[in-house]
Amino acid sequence: MSLLSPVHPAFVSRVEPDSAAAQAGVQAGDALLRVNGNAITDILAYRRELEAGDVTLEMQRVDSSTFEFRVSWEDPGLEFSEVLFDGIKLCANKCEFCYVHQMPKGFRKSLYVMDDDYRLSFLYGSFVTLTNLSEADFDRIISENLSPLYVSVHSTDQALRADMMKWWRLKVKDPESTKIQDTLKRLEPIDLYTQLVLLPSRNDGQYLEESLEYLSSLPNVLSVACVPLGLTDHRRNLPELRPYTAPEAKDVLRIAHKWQKKLLEERGTRFIFPSDEFYILAGEPLPPEEAYEGYPMLENGVGMVRDFLSGELPPLPKAVPGTRVILGTGKLFAPILDLALEPLRAVRGLHIEVRALENKTFGTVTTVAGLLTGRCFLENITPAEADLLIVSPSTLRYGTELMLDDISLTNLREKLKMDVRSGGKNLGELARVILENAQSSLPQFGYSAHAVKERRA
Ligand code: SF4
Repeated sequence: MSLLSPVHPAFVSRVEPDSAAAQAGVQAGDALLRVNGNAITDILAYRRELEAGDVTLEMQRVDSSTFEFRVSWEDPGLEFSEVLFDGIKLCANKCEFCYVHQMPKGFRKSLYVMDDDYRLSFLYGSFVTLTNLSEADFDRIISENLSPLYVSVHSTDQALRADMMKWWRLKVKDPESTKIQDTLKRLEPIDLYTQLVLLPSRNDGQYLEESLEYLSSLPNVLSVACVPLGLTDHRRNLPELRPYTAPEAKDVLRIAHKWQKKLLEERGTRFIFPSDEFYILAGEPLPPEEAYEGYPMLENGVGMVRDFLSGELPPLPKAVPGTRVILGTGKLFAPILDLALEPLRAVRGLHIEVRALENKTFGTVTTVAGLLTGRCFLENITPAEADLLIVSPSTLRYGTELMLDDISLTNLREKLKMDVRSGGKNLGELARVILENAQSSLPQFGYSAHAVKERRA
């Protein structure tokens, strides 16, 4: 890159005190323009430039004035508001099962972004299809060893994959990138976690067998997650698709278990990991913890339930002050949660109800907890019918108390006239949240003495 390359200002969000940047007078809100005269596209390119040592950073202030400072090998002390300075790379496909196409209107803009950016795959583990890669992207992935990457394969049968994903010719920069078998081979130096989004009677059965055979033959493919398609009631002008039936889910598991057995012997890993949803849909028991081999695909719904159940319950008191608790969750997980919380029902004073919430936003076909919105809680729960409502942490935007539709836990508290808490990430944490809240509702006089004695007994 040179001075002629387009500049992508990288806005500074924080400057480390006493760092080279701080000493040079850099402030939050300033922008990095170039490093060693090169335009910088993303945080990875920035780090690569720094690794070369002796760099000059060209900065721009809010008033457009520019200045430079230098570092040798030390970190300049800059943090940026984004990791991608040149914007997010969008997908070149129109997958028939795409969730974005089935989203109701009215959500925040970011939920409609059809990203397919290999840099986010490397940085955060998001899945990419690779059909939008240019020759230069391939070269960069390999030369900078952007490993591992997470790849949506869906099927290794080229014609079937093309039919399912319907990429736009004009958006594909390198036609070779759409040939999945060649692409996976081309990325031979890069470790790949892959996923197959399965559609009933489409890419399962014999196609699934073939995909597993091919993927397991490649040393750089570390595992395959199998997840069923996600549907909403908002599929307008889209191909007709339906959810998995129990016998179909069982068939997927039969194939997966056959390959797991074979590959555990041959490669020392089960290699293929069906998502929790397949087990629940099929009515089959979840595998034990060790079968998930460290949960590398947890974010993809593979092992989430087992991980949740593996949290041990804390010691339970005999009684708490009378507390009515509703745990609102998706229809899929509700029966499992209900069973797991059975020991808490022995605590006198604790009245627990696991409520399977109908998804009022995405429709009845959507049964996972992670897609419940604030509206689902407001329309499935009557104000003041409980003292405490527990919502699954998966319904909240990471690091916030906001749900998908931007309704906050505070909004829920006000409208439902009850305390609202996020449950923990496993059963033990959830039980602690329930008990702490039940015990903190202990009145200061009278009845409390009895409860205290009960707990000590
Ligand atoms: S790759 Fe497919 S599923 Fe992902 S955003 Fe694009 S069209 Fe949707």
